[in-house]
Amino acid sequence: MKEPKFIFVTGGVVSSLGKGIISSSIGRLLLTCGYRVTIQKFDPYINIDPGTLNPYEHGECYVTDDGVETDLDLGHYERFTGIRTTVHNSVTTGKIYQAVIEKERRGDYLGKTIQVVPHITNEIKDRIKANAKGGEFDFIITEIGGTIGDIESAPFLEAIRQLRWELGKNALCIHLTYVPYLKAAGELKTKPTQHSVKELQSLGIQPDILILRTEKHLGPEILHKVAAFCNVSPDGVIQSEDLPSIYEVPLNMHKQGLDQFILARFGMDHFEGHRQSLSQWEEFVRKEKDLRETVKVGLVGKYDLQDAYKSIRESLHIAGIHTGKKVEIHFINSEHLTVENVEASLSGQDGIIICPGFGSRGIEGKIVAVHYCRTHDIPTFGICLGMQMMVIEFARNVLGLPDAHSAEIDPETKSNVIDLMESQKAISRKGGTMRLGGYACELAEGSCVREIYGTDAIRERHRHRYEFNNAFLKQFEQAGMRCSGRNPENNLVEIVELPSLKWFIGTQFHPEYSSTVLSPHPLFVDFIQRL
Ligand code: GLN
Repeated sequence: MKEPKFIFVTGGVVSSLGKGIISSSIGRLLLTCGYRVTIQKFDPYINIDPGTLNPYEHGECYVTDDGVETDLDLGHYERFTGIRTTVHNSVTTGKIYQAVIEKERRGDYLGKTIQVVPHITNEIKDRIKANAKGGEFDFIITEIGGTIGDIESAPFLEAIRQLRWELGKNALCIHLTYVPYLKAAGELKTKPTQHSVKELQSLGIQPDILILRTEKHLGPEILHKVAAFCNVSPDGVIQSEDLPSIYEVPLNMHKQGLDQFILARFGMDHFEGHRQSLSQWEEFVRKEKDLRETVKVGLVGKYDLQDAYKSIRESLHIAGIHTGKKVEIHFINSEHLTVENVEASLSGQDGIIICPGFGSRGIEGKIVAVHYCRTHDIPTFGICLGMQMMVIEFARNVLGLPDAHSAEIDPETKSNVIDLMESQKAISRKGGTMRLGGYACELAEGSCVREIYGTDAIRERHRHRYEFNNAFLKQFEQAGMRCSGRNPENNLVEIVELPSLKWFIGTQFHPEYSSTVLSPHPLFVDFIQRL
């Protein structure tokens, strides 16, 4: 078995340069060259995972099929590569320290003083190499969160420095920086990049490749200057100019020969036997530039922040490209929605998404939105909390249960149509305790979802504590709300639908986590197609 190659991606100068997109693009290109690739994220924060983080702090929490709550960059990795990530692909400082402290308590280091170097750095190195164990991958791309110079990332960089020595020719470092344009001077400035590389060098890491983020095109003289000042070969200096779409980034990297450079640096060639072509990706980008029809989708949620519903936004956009429609997304703050203003707030939208979420803020606004959509037959897609709101609205206004609610919001209600799962009742902790990851679901014969999926058995990812309460199942079905997706093991309701309407489906799971560029999720595709 060949040794896997390790690619480390770090970032300098400023945050938010799009390391996740660059890592994902490299992954896509190497995959296209015929190699097996995985991308993993190492985050320097102390939380064990982002599961308990407010989306305002950290954007969406992404969930892997094996049930890990992770950084939203893992969503980009999966959407770009189509390769499933796992528990090994998301590591935080919190996880590292937790493992080391558990070992210390067990007595694994008996007699030793536990220190950042070597104990923490060794744990980081072991985690970086975890994906190499099964021989499943030719390339392991490791993205280090944060910016060079942060106190928190120091142990990760020391681990990379050591690994470069240990892995020798099997390791390569890519550093992403920023080249600002000073309008007053009319100049592009490379000094921040030089400083950032110097900082990296002072930690003992010489980058092999520099990727320069820039708003303006960089001429060859700038690229050569950076190469000369930073000890990097001119072929290894790549520019990443702002592009209309993140999905154009792999093509732009390919045009500049980044994939060729990486392969040459590892002494490898295109793996002809398994070579895929970039043509499918090119076709996707070509279609993206040529969307003629526009549809408007209202996102009813409480987080007025692009990143909070990242995977839903991308899933809608991707579904639009596959159906030839430009999806214009309008955020509608559920906190401000009332019976009086709902018509005006939702007007002009071709379809509505009722977003996932936690807690009581904005809940009644979501129920008002569901009611309006149901009674005006506006195509509506409820996701997780959104599905629960569909159930509550139906119970209140069709089943005649005015006190219907979720036990999450009103623990005392007798009409607890959404209730805490039995397994959750004894748990008092918050972190990592939800129903997380992929579960099987059977689709009822003759249901809308069975038709849409084109199969009777699916597997989808979950992230919630509360469930449809089966004590009310008969009442719902008799009144016309079909529970068309069930967990075959415990009979939990995973999907509800109103077949009498144009498109009215709620899923307890999150289909947005498994929609990828080349394999868009059928529910999103069908939803957009019908608008
Ligand atoms: N708060 C709800 C629950 O825990 C829904 C969660 C979600 O939308 N992800 O069941």
